[in-house]
Amino acid sequence: MSCLFCEIVAGRIPARIAYQDDAMLAFHDINPQGPIHILVIPKRHITSVLDLTPADDELMGSLVRRATALSRAEGLADRGFRLVFNYGEDAGYSVYHIHLHLVGGRKLGWPPG
Ligand code: 5GP
Ligand code: ZN
Repeated sequence: MSCLFCEIVAGRIPARIAYQDDAMLAFHDINPQGPIHILVIPKRHITSVLDLTPADDELMGSLVRRATALSRAEGLADRGFRLVFNYGEDAGYSVYHIHLHLVGGRKLGWPPG
């Protein structure tokens, strides 16, 4: 099965990488929804939030904490930012490899569109 984000993890598709370690990768979104838009993903393929199990709790906790560390590194922590997991058609989930969006650098509307 080919997966776009697995291809990015493998280095076969280029991305502007913001952070990586053994378990995760953070890279800038190709179609940013704000001045800063970074995707934080586990390197291991997990299809969506609906596929998480208790064995993933530590990984997902470190994903969220990495996103907050990146928010500080990108200068977003003072003014604010948004962390988002999409799922399914209504939310426009388009790449079926779980990813946490970090968006900031502008005033973000609520409720989201
Ligand atoms: P979703 O809508 O599935 O939550 O978010 C998928 C995100 O992946 C979108 O924001 C989209 O712009 C981004 N994206 C899709 N293809 C690529 C790509 O090839 N490279 C990068 N860096 N981002 C991508
Ligand atoms: Zn994948």
